[in-house]
This record gives sequence, structure tokens and C-alpha cells, in this order.
Amino acid sequence: MNNVNASIITIGDELLIGQTIDTNSAFIARALNEIGVWVHRRVAIGDQAAAITKALDTEKEMASIIILTGGLGPTADDKTKDALCQYFGGKMVINKDALQQIKKLFEKVYPNQQQIIERNLQQAEVPDVCTVLPNKRGSAPGMLFSTGEKNKDFKIFISLPGVPYEMEGLITDEVIPYIQKNFDLPAIVHKTALTAGKGESIIAEMLSSFEKDLPKEIQLAYLPNYGLVKLRLTAFGHDKQTLENKIEPYFQKMLSLVHDNLVTDKDEELAAVVGRLLIEKNKTIGTAESCTGGYIAHQLTAIPGSSAYYAGSVVSYSYEAKEKILGVHHETLLNFGAVSEETVTEMARGALKTLETDYVIAVSGIMGPGGSTPDKPVGTVWMAVADANTIQTRQLNLRFNRQKNIEITAARALNMLRLFICERLV
Ligand code: ATP
Repeated sequence: MNNVNASIITIGDELLIGQTIDTNSAFIARALNEIGVWVHRRVAIGDQAAAITKALDTEKEMASIIILTGGLGPTADDKTKDALCQYFGGKMVINKDALQQIKKLFEKVYPNQQQIIERNLQQAEVPDVCTVLPNKRGSAPGMLFSTGEKNKDFKIFISLPGVPYEMEGLITDEVIPYIQKNFDLPAIVHKTALTAGKGESIIAEMLSSFEKDLPKEIQLAYLPNYGLVKLRLTAFGHDKQTLENKIEPYFQKMLSLVHDNLVTDKDEELAAVVGRLLIEKNKTIGTAESCTGGYIAHQLTAIPGSSAYYAGSVVSYSYEAKEKILGVHHETLLNFGAVSEETVTEMARGALKTLETDYVIAVSGIMGPGGSTPDKPVGTVWMAVADANTIQTRQLNLRFNRQKNIEITAARALNMLRLFICERLV
């Protein structure tokens, strides 16, 4: 079985000037990787027909699947459709289904407007040499062109809208099933675990001989993110069941090697693990956030079904809010400062009382770039987790920018809570 190669071409001047971060390629690459397609190149180009043609010429030499995103909109700078029409020698025709979808969408979004404007109607025009991929989430349909024949230099070119939400729907509903049906792909099995508390390099050290001894059809990937490290074992082969049997003992071995830092042996986020624990034990949680400004609450509420265990957050940024809502003593703030063990302890106690939950997390820190003092540099954070009987506190010394400091604090606090709950529920 040969490797099936793909190229991703993202189109848009905004990508080249750094105004938009190209998240589309990452999503598409992940989706293709999941089904055993190897993305060998990702290219970003501007909204010019010549650039599009040139990229197609180059990429089709190296890949049999070429996915383009962007430039399908109703504005003059959207050049992709015309460029593709010319490239594949077609002419523009109205696609009835796409027209129907545009009218439906227009009526929903602008119920009081009588007439759809010409510009939007033009989005239903597609080259007559493509297969239309219906876009249930927007107006610009996806388009699929192909050259060659099945098993004989067969290549597909798929053009998708740039809007991430629309592109994602099309990839999941249309593109992946099409590729799985029309290409001879390897069977592929992923097994994922999440660790916390040790950096990527230390985890890699712990797994170094294990990794060296892996057979060539099993690969280990490290996916570090905010102090957490996802470990993914992937096996490639011909038969899924054989691979599942083959990968399992390696996965178990890997889990045993990282046992002390293991958060979950499933492909799930930390907040989801915390949520699952709380549901299993029928417990509730609340948060008292200063420096993270509600970011921990956001992580928790991003998990569907979190209302079963998450009560809410007190975003107590100022001294006054800490005192009035959480009952932190004025003297505590004056004597020890807002970023101190004493203050987060009182914040946690106050949150337990105010939110009436089984557990709470409290955090207070200096996220930067300003706000440091000689004894409390930027990155100093105090965290507390508590239940009615116990309070645990911990200091962090972070070294990143404001946003990353916030994100790492949230991840560390959630992990501290996870460990706190686990210790109490054994
Ligand atoms: P529309 O029909 O809405 O105009 P389109 O196919 O023309 O879609 P663009 O106009 O290129 O797409 O982009 C639409 C939106 O999607 C813009 O906000 C753009 O910044 C964003 N976008 C485009 N390409 C990417 C990308 N590679 N990654 C993330 N966002 C993107």
C-alpha cells in the first residue's frame, strides 16, 4: 500500500499579513492524519488567480489530495472559484441546490429583507466540471474536481470556504467520507493519554527506551499544551482489529511508565476529566478567580453537561470585590497583598460559603506585563483548592506572557483540583 499524500493550500491576503491565523490547515491536517492521509505540505498564498494556479501546478506533482480553503466569498477579492473554473476548463453554471441553500440562509438571517442581492446569488454559481459539496453551515458550497482515474493517477482538488466553522462542517460531513471511499488508505489506530505535572522533555526521558523499542508501524507523538502533555500512539497497517490487538500492550506499557503523572487514558481534555470525576461522585464545584478573570470558569463550562456540577464563579478582581463578595479581610489584603497564600485561602473559604459547593478553586496572581513588586515578580501565582475540611495551597512561578500565564494557571488549578478530588475519593 502506498502512502496517500495531501497538500493544503490556504488562500487569503489576510493570512500573509498575519491578520488571520491559519487555523484551517491545522484542523484539516488533524482530520486527514486521523484517517491515515499524510499531509506533506501546507502552503499559504494570496488572493490572486496566478498564485492559485501556480500552487495547484506545484502541489499536484506531489500529492493526490489537494485541499484549498478561502476566497469563495461574494467580494471582488475572492478569486478562487474563477481561477479553478479556468484551471479545469469549465464554465460557470448555477447550482440549484446551492441556490436553494443561499435563499434559505438569507431568509433566516435577514427575515425582513425582500430581495437577495446579486452578489450573494452569485455564490450559487459553480464551474460545471465540479461536483458540488453542500455547505449546510453557510452560503458558499464546496467544490470537488478530479483528474485521472481510480487507481491510475487519480487526484482530487477540493475547494472549501475559508470560514472555519463552515470549512469544518464540510471536512467532517463530505470530504473525509469521500476520501475514505475513494482512496486505498491504511488502517489506522490511535490511542491517547494525557499527563500533567511534568514537562515534555521529562516525559520524553521517561519514555525514551520504550520509544526506541517501538516497532516501526507504531509511532509515538508528544502533544504538549500548557503544562499538560498528550501522548498519542498510532499504529498503521492493513487491518484495524490486528492493529488494535498489537497496539494495546504497548499502550498499557506506556501508561505504566507515566503512571504517576497520568490524567486520563482517553482522548479528552483536563476539564472533561474533572467533570467526569465530579459526576461520578455526585459533587459540585465553584471558582473564585482573580488573575484568570473567569478563564477557569470558561474551561469548565466549555464541557457539555457541566451544569450538573459547576455552580459558578466569583470573578473578584479588585480588593473591594474580594472583600465584599468573598469576605476576604481588608487587613489580609493590606498585610499580605492580593497575591498571597493568606488571600487565596480566604477567597477559597468565601467561595465555599457563597457558592455552596463541595469544592472550590481560588487563584490570584500577577499575569504581567506590569504589576510586579521586588518580592513578587510577574508570574507569581497563588492557588487554593478546598472542601469544607481541608484547604491546599500552592505557589506558581510562571515565565510567559499575560495570555499564556492565564492559560497555564487555569490548567494547573484544574489539575490541582483533580488531584485533590482523587485523594479524597479513594
Ligand atoms: P465567505 O464565503 O464567508 O467570504 P470565503 O471562502 O471567501 O468565505 P474568506 O473570505 O477567505 O473565505 O475568509 C472568510 C473568513 O474566514 C475570514 O474571516 C477569514 O479571516 C477566515 N479564514 C480564511 N482562511 C482562514 C484560515 N486558513 N484559517 C482561519 N481562518 C480563516
